[in-house]
Amino acid sequence: MACACPKCGGEMMSIVKSLSARIGPFSVKSFLPPELQRYESVEVRVCVACGYTELYWLK
Ligand SMILES: [Zn+2]
Repeated sequence: MACACPKCGGEMMSIVKSLSARIGPFSVKSFLPPELQRYESVEVRVCVACGYTELYWLK
């Protein structure tokens, strides 16, 4: 699923991270504000050309 960068029209690279993942003794979720802890994962889209980044919160 490729999509174009809104800034330069370049190719966006998509990475999905689970918020249940753990960093040492902490889960990623514990670092988030309460209004974001209801989401299960976050999709990070980075333009390979200009570095423009978008975040999508996924349930
Ligand atoms: Zn771009």
